[in-house]
Amino acid sequence: MIYLDHNATTPPAPAVLAAMLPVLSSLWANTSSQHGLGQEAKRALSAARATVARVLGCKPVEVIFTSGATEANHMAMRGLLAMAPPERRRVVFSSVEHAGHLRLARALAAAGVQVDLLPVLANGTLDLQAAQALIGPDVALVSLMAANNETGVLMPVAEVAALTQAAGARLHVDATQFIGKQPFNFSTWGADAVSLSAHKLQGPKGVGALLLRQGVPFAPQTLGSQERGRRGGTENLAGIVGLAAALELLGDVAAEAARVAQLRDALEIGLTRALPQTHIWSRAVPRLPGTSYLRFGQLSVDVVLQRLERLGVAASSGAACSSGGSEPSHVLTAMGVPADEALAAVRLSLGRTSTQEDVTYLLNALPPLLAPLLHEEVLTAP
Ligand code: PMP
Repeated sequence: MIYLDHNATTPPAPAVLAAMLPVLSSLWANTSSQHGLGQEAKRALSAARATVARVLGCKPVEVIFTSGATEANHMAMRGLLAMAPPERRRVVFSSVEHAGHLRLARALAAAGVQVDLLPVLANGTLDLQAAQALIGPDVALVSLMAANNETGVLMPVAEVAALTQAAGARLHVDATQFIGKQPFNFSTWGADAVSLSAHKLQGPKGVGALLLRQGVPFAPQTLGSQERGRRGGTENLAGIVGLAAALELLGDVAAEAARVAQLRDALEIGLTRALPQTHIWSRAVPRLPGTSYLRFGQLSVDVVLQRLERLGVAASSGAACSSGGSEPSHVLTAMGVPADEALAAVRLSLGRTSTQEDVTYLLNALPPLLAPLLHEEVLTAP
């Protein structure tokens, strides 16, 4: 199996599993228990928190462990909004946020919050002029992802941080796809809150964190004594230890990014050469190193994924409903891509486990399967 779906999730690293297993089997005590075993679990939690803080460039008190990025996103938005001054009720989301996050935007709007969506340009980058116009003194909170999960486009976090600071608003950044793939340091980013998820960086599923700048007013959304009263519930210690181990494994992120970008570029060059009908979105703007978002003519994504499956390659569609539903991707729609083209979108996402052999195999095996279909498409075009 060749795995080209690293933006969906990543295989857990063996060192992550090795770090988690003894916690699952032996360190299962409740970290809030007074007895020795509980105290031992509590020390492991503190050690993991210290590691996470060191790798991500924040203070240990700024780390709130969650069940993943979806929870971190929700608690950041609701928790920051609840503490905003009454004259600041407007919330701004980018229009290409993760589907779950946009559901929250709709839920907030339905509850009476004024929600504005920031448009993107045709190349998938944020429309900064629109951001400038929309982020004013009545805004409580802005939410912008650091990198898009479909196109891989890197968003202008520093520029938007400057705009939010000038407006006196708060900034939340969903860095789920960014952390682990690009160098990151919370202390220099200018965001008040940052979400991340372990399973996107070779950690386990069901664990992540919200980094919350010390001193920023925040209303807890899940009540309980854990995480300094900011997120109640017995901690997922094995998951948290797994997250810390995964972060520690990252090493030289820039070097790994360069390696993966080279593989992705070779794949894109090879595919466009063999199949000239290949169209790659956002190719000319800064992107995540491993993400390639493309269509082969207007071949249905289901047909392409079927051929890939036959070749033992796991990839993904760009549709909001990845099971081959009829809804075009909201990201491509926001970029102005027509529905028939958006419904042909295939996402190939390379990562740490990707190799030159994977790329060579795909370049040898896929074009002969797709070329006749593309030829047929040309012949039957209206
Ligand atoms: N935000 C982004 C940008 C994502 O790509 C994902 C995962 N697809 C999430 C949030 C949700 O993360 P989790 O699975 O940890 O809830």
